[in-house]
Amino acid sequence: MRKKIYVYGIVQGVGFRPFVYNLCKKFGIAGYVMNTASGVCIDAQGDPDSLEKLLKEIQHNPPSLSIVEHIEVYDCEEKNYTEFKIMQSADDGGFIPVSPDMGICDECLEELFDPGNRRYRYPFINCTNCGPRYSIIKDIPYDRPMTTMERFKMCRDCQTEYDNPDDRRFHAQPNACPICGPHVFWVDDGSATLEGEKALKRAIVLLNEGRIVAIKGVGGFNLAVDATDETAVKRLRKKKHRYDKPLAVMVADIDMAKRFAVISGVEENVLLSQRRPIVLLKKKASLEHFIAPSVAPDIDTIGVMLPPTPLHYLIARDFDRPLVMTSGNLSEEPIAKDNSEAMDRLKGIADGFLLHDRDIFARIDDSVSMVIDGKEMVIRRARGYAPQPIVYTSPVESQKLHKGIEVLALGPHDKVTICVAKNNYFFISQHIGDMDNVKTIQYFKETIERYKSLFRVQPDIVAYDMHPDYITTQYALTIEGLKKVAVQHHHAHIASCMVDNGISQKVIGVAYDGTGYGDDDKLWGGEIMIADLHSYHRQYHLKYIPLIGGATAIRKIYKVGLSYMFESGYDFELFKKRIDKKEMELLKIQWEKKINAPEVSSVGRLFDAVATVIGLRDYTSYEGQAASQLESLISLSVNGYYEYDISDEGIINPVSIVLSAYKDREAGVDLSTISTKFHNSIVMFTVDAVKRVRKVSGLNDVVLTGGVFQNRYLLENIKSQLEQEGFCVYVHRKIPCNDGGISLGQAAVALYSS
Ligand SMILES: [Zn+2]
Ligand SMILES: [Zn+2]
Ligand SMILES: [Zn+2]
Repeated sequence: MRKKIYVYGIVQGVGFRPFVYNLCKKFGIAGYVMNTASGVCIDAQGDPDSLEKLLKEIQHNPPSLSIVEHIEVYDCEEKNYTEFKIMQSADDGGFIPVSPDMGICDECLEELFDPGNRRYRYPFINCTNCGPRYSIIKDIPYDRPMTTMERFKMCRDCQTEYDNPDDRRFHAQPNACPICGPHVFWVDDGSATLEGEKALKRAIVLLNEGRIVAIKGVGGFNLAVDATDETAVKRLRKKKHRYDKPLAVMVADIDMAKRFAVISGVEENVLLSQRRPIVLLKKKASLEHFIAPSVAPDIDTIGVMLPPTPLHYLIARDFDRPLVMTSGNLSEEPIAKDNSEAMDRLKGIADGFLLHDRDIFARIDDSVSMVIDGKEMVIRRARGYAPQPIVYTSPVESQKLHKGIEVLALGPHDKVTICVAKNNYFFISQHIGDMDNVKTIQYFKETIERYKSLFRVQPDIVAYDMHPDYITTQYALTIEGLKKVAVQHHHAHIASCMVDNGISQKVIGVAYDGTGYGDDDKLWGGEIMIADLHSYHRQYHLKYIPLIGGATAIRKIYKVGLSYMFESGYDFELFKKRIDKKEMELLKIQWEKKINAPEVSSVGRLFDAVATVIGLRDYTSYEGQAASQLESLISLSVNGYYEYDISDEGIINPVSIVLSAYKDREAGVDLSTISTKFHNSIVMFTVDAVKRVRKVSGLNDVVLTGGVFQNRYLLENIKSQLEQEGFCVYVHRKIPCNDGGISLGQAAVALYSS
């Protein structure tokens, strides 16, 4: 009996062919296995029983890094095969998901620190179960000549491993050793270039002196500095122009992290996973004795990561203290990836460079995850996650995708990702950034071209945000020959959460964020809608408040506080004292006449208003700063909430919440109590509004989405209270709830409404 078996999914660069080869040898099957541009093709001839066993193994026990999406089997005429072979790759013009870059596996880690191993302390050790993938791949099919490893010719030992199907390094494309592979070297202003162990030693010496070292990682450069040295951390912040935004730290192992962070079992698993994200953990009180205060000021969480590569392991263990690890860039620019680029762009920041000669083809940042409600939720999706596609398996909608329509979606303005979609695959890109500088815009354009070519997508539709001023919108409008679909921001948020959960039925969507453009030309951000992938109908939203100063109020949040103050008609005596009298008069006129005061219905701005009227802060230097600080003040022992108004016309009026918070502060109530009652108020009005929507619509499924749902307390409490009311609640997991998920939602809406 002879069968042709096609396997689709992440099946290249993950040891799939040797896995099949070994099974076929074991079961006495003849034929061949081959990578194609769309997956793996197996031509297998043997007795029916063996072929059945082979299929079962592929379905149930594939290699650890592989993801089998689906399998097609065809019966064929028997041929005169006598043995089983691994054949050269063939390009059949199809497309295939590319594996993300994966952190070092346990076996390689053991070899790395085994003095008897030929790769002892070799920073580029890898195998079919680990190592770089996406960042080094130039094109598919995934073979060494198509990667940046092309120029390293394997030595005899490495080639033997590479050719031996029984070896862990069989066809491991980045396979290398100290004899034949890439090397690290050190460059700084003073001394001559150092290589290998000397380079590593020099890096450790500088780090011990509190200096800043640029380290070339998987998808770009990191800047490292001693996380226990306050002066050193402050110096890094100043040079990077990054003043308050929390920095992540890298630790050598879990025990080191436990000295300053609370780690649950699930969090430990996420930290240890080969995707190696930064995980947001709760700080321990003992942190102050260990981690410099300016690593993550004013908040109760800290981002922690285990070493993502063998090189990082060598540094982490040699240094033996936590290191700040931040993207190698000036604030808000994309991460630097090439040696010369890094030395040019980072020369004013880093005191030395730990470089290597394995080129990075595609830049990709570190990912960020958190554990919410007992499960991982990705909030910045990059290394280790992208470009793994989201396969939308909803039985109703996925049928329509086979119409052959392909989509390019461009995201919003901040935290931009792009997404290309074909069949039921959504290839959402790694985090690109905020479209505020030329370098990020360039990176955005590069990423579009890379995803189109790597996944063989020729879009019929371009999807983009409704906001007319976004650079992504303007870019979309310049693309000729494509159908153009503008997608409402919060509809896109809801759609992305639906695809994340594989659902397609009508839902009650709760979308809370900073701001997104509404179809009435106002700025939305506190929206409760009935929606599916085709359409949306706004049911409830926060009352519109004129946002004095427009975009400037996003950093000068006292203007948001003033907007609420004027709205309430109450005299915020103490609050007024902090603001210049002349400016106050001007702002009042602006509010009255609605000059440069766009109306907003945003929950993000409500957080800003409360933070400022209770005296927490008047300015922010990064998005979500006031909200994170308020969340950090929560006390689980506080009950109670502030009164709000909700009308049958669909308006939730939170002005009384801000006023009550202010009055509490005036009466000397502590910040922790106020913050908790404020959070409880949002939980209350959300559950209230959702119940009202159910009453009129009969809908019972709720989607929670938007950047505000990075707030653990809000998400967990709204979810559990809705569940107590009998709702079925969906939250984000694989796709960020913030604007990093928008491109996927846009793609889904464009596909299904077309
Ligand atoms: Zn490995
Ligand atoms: Zn070698
Ligand atoms: Zn948003």
